[in-house]
Amino acid sequence: MIEGLILVVVFLFWIIIAKCLSPQRRLIILDLNGVLIYRERRNGNNSNSGIALSRFNVWVHPEVTTILDSLAAQGFDIAIWTSVRSENVEEILPLLNWDPKRFVFVWTQENCVVDGQHPTKIGVPNFTKPLDRVWERYPQYNASNTIIVDDSAVKLEGYEKNHLHVASWTPGDDVMHIWWEKIKTC
Ligand SMILES: [Mg+2]
Repeated sequence: MIEGLILVVVFLFWIIIAKCLSPQRRLIILDLNGVLIYRERRNGNNSNSGIALSRFNVWVHPEVTTILDSLAAQGFDIAIWTSVRSENVEEILPLLNWDPKRFVFVWTQENCVVDGQHPTKIGVPNFTKPLDRVWERYPQYNASNTIIVDDSAVKLEGYEKNHLHVASWTPGDDVMHIWWEKIKTC
């Protein structure tokens, strides 16, 4: 009887110690277009600027590698979720100059859920990013330890508590520093 009680106490003590030694990880999910990169369909006016990828010109934020390193050093697990199609994402990822194996996951348009039409882009579906999909696939993350940085509110309706809604980045502006500073205090 007493031995059993001691075993239970030791077991509970071991669980508490294990929890203290391995604190819960935090996940930060980053959007691509408007956050880490800017991309636009190539036309006669912009054909000489940006990096040409298929039908698009792409600009990468000049500090993207520094920011990813900084988030990792801050203890975040990092993932990408973009509504760009997977074949285009494969071309964009090397431009980030960061080992893609370090991302917990890279999700693309194929992982999004279509919710009607985009409210401002005519003829474009609204590709939403229901975070429950992430939490089902990666149960170590949940509403209490996940942040998603995204410049689109309509993709994350219902997840406002986890959504750090940022202004869209375009080449030459400084909006990334605004959310980067916010993340540093998280
Ligand atoms: Mg975006």
